[in-house]
Amino acid sequence: MSKYVFASCEKTTEKVLDSTIETNLVKSIQEEKKLADERNDIDKDGFFCVTAVVDGGWCKRSYGHGYNASSGVAFIIGLATQKIIFIDIRNKVCLTCHAIETGRISSKTHVCHKNWDASSTSMESNIIVEGMKYLESILTIFAAHASLAMGIRILSNELKTKLAMVTVS
Ligand SMILES: [Zn+2]
Repeated sequence: MSKYVFASCEKTTEKVLDSTIETNLVKSIQEEKKLADERNDIDKDGFFCVTAVVDGGWCKRSYGHGYNASSGVAFIIGLATQKIIFIDIRNKVCLTCHAIETGRISSKTHVCHKNWDASSTSMESNIIVEGMKYLESILTIFAAHASLAMGIRILSNELKTKLAMVTVS
């Protein structure tokens, strides 16, 4: 397969994946809200109160050192459905931008996937805080309880502080 055919397939796959993820997230969120409604877990302000489990990971495995991964993912799972209700990615590198910067190709318009300049260790907590805010402000879902899954315990103090700030505001 030529690199042009591969790039074309990659773009098509990205569109299909994005659409599928969006559809499934909407379904999971609706299901989580329905179950909260059935439990009568709606607060006086109309927020659907759910229990969330959060986790994340990096593209690079580390064993207590070397926290410099170029991308990370984190997600929020609704405990009642056990389905993902929010997911996002942080990337420190865009290969197209890198090729432009190093002079391998000339500047061109592209879908840039670089969206993070801070430390790798703050990727997961940033995604989860953004997800909690999104669920609360746009979807009227309030994570009344949030549990940290095993992979994110290393960030727990920072994350707990940020989560506390989210639930207070
Ligand atoms: Zn780029």
